[in-house]
Amino acid sequence: MYDVIIIGGGPAGLTAALYNARARLKVLLLEKTKLGGQIVSTHEIANFPGSIKSTGEETSGPELIKRMTEQAQQFGAEIQLRKEVTDLDFEEGIKKITCKDGSIYKAHAVICANGAFPREIGCTGERELAGKGVSYCATCDGAFFEDMEVFVIGGGNSAVEEAMFITTFARKVTIIQNLSNLTADAIAVEQAKDNEKIEYIFDSIVESIEGEGIVEAMTIRNTKTGELTRFEADEDDGLFGIFVFIGNVPSTKLYEGKIPLSDYGYMITDEAMSTRVPGVFAAGDMRPKVLRQVVTATGDGAIAAFSAQKYVEKIKREAAVT
Ligand SMILES: Cc1cc2nc3c(=O)[nH]c(=O)nc-3n(C[C@H](O)[C@H](O)[C@H](O)COP(=O)(O)OP(=O)(O)OC[C@H]3O[C@@H](n4cnc5c(N)ncnc54)[C@H](O)[C@@H]3O)c2cc1C
Repeated sequence: MYDVIIIGGGPAGLTAALYNARARLKVLLLEKTKLGGQIVSTHEIANFPGSIKSTGEETSGPELIKRMTEQAQQFGAEIQLRKEVTDLDFEEGIKKITCKDGSIYKAHAVICANGAFPREIGCTGERELAGKGVSYCATCDGAFFEDMEVFVIGGGNSAVEEAMFITTFARKVTIIQNLSNLTADAIAVEQAKDNEKIEYIFDSIVESIEGEGIVEAMTIRNTKTGELTRFEADEDDGLFGIFVFIGNVPSTKLYEGKIPLSDYGYMITDEAMSTRVPGVFAAGDMRPKVLRQVVTATGDGAIAAFSAQKYVEKIKREAAVT
């Protein structure tokens, strides 16, 4: 029996674990794969205060997560990996959590920090060629495209920043954006415009990705003229890379029918990160919010942990009286 169980080991979950552990609660964090969530897929953390040293040296996602993990564990947080939560039972006060491997855990309070996963283009060939030229993580796969051609799909901050990173390997990076302009912040746009390896195609979406086991061709459609353009891999390369950064989908399927979600599937909370189920809190990218970044995820994690702590203290006080 734990005081608090946290589902998800991204920035929100790790922050909640730190706060609850420091409050001397018995806290368990369950993570389905490896710790870190989305931020471990980037080489450089923009906009997180303190992440750039005075020398200009940047902190990588994995580095920040390693420090967050060590800090939470130092205060006694228990972390278990390869624990995908597949079911929850909130019916009788005590929260019962079931994992894919059949293990069951119980707690007074639960903090949901499942985050989000990359949105797919949804075109033919994308799923079949994922991991074979189609990628959602530049840090993981950028180096495979040394001196090759790469297309980056999207025009927001992630797309533009990751495109710049990929130019350290690729000989040419073309950003394909469905709108007439980039939507990344001004600094990222300026830096990308100064980068001679980056080219742009606007008002265009990917229609199909083709190839026998690897990405060999892609067709895009101009949304204004309807014109189709087909790109084929350079004969010497044999393939090219397609990196997709077009937003995220909240990981909330697990909670459908159990905890109220918004129309777009985000978990609804109040300012204290309380969901509509007593003793269940949510933090990070899975909540409706205007800015999905590490700084907002960690902020949510801190508030959710504080609220969970108050809830557990109240439950224990009431139990002691009766
Ligand atoms: C390419 C890229 C670059 C980015 N760059 C920046 C940046 O420079 N600066 C910045 O501030 N932000 C950046 N972000 C955004 C930032 O990564 C997210 O806002 C942040 O990671 C959200 O944290 P989170 O903890 O809410 O969710 P996530 O990071 O999504 O973590 C959720 C965790 O929960 C786990 N999980 C999900 N379901 C279950 C389950 N059923 N059981 C157990 N575990 C589960 C997942 O495996 C994951 O580890 C970037 C995102 C991407 C994709």
